[in-house]
Amino acid sequence: MGVLDALRTGRRGTELYECRNCGRKLDADSDECPHCGSSEVAYYVF
Ligand SMILES: [Zn+2]
Repeated sequence: MGVLDALRTGRRGTELYECRNCGRKLDADSDECPHCGSSEVAYYVF
């Protein structure tokens, strides 16, 4: 069951939030970067 769960999770799109200014990874649904204060957050789904 654990293996199946891992496979399902792996096939689902991975979400990534990243600051366009400093390039740091951010928590999901971040509106602004806590590191540099930029509100330019890039959002990717793989
Ligand atoms: Zn930043």
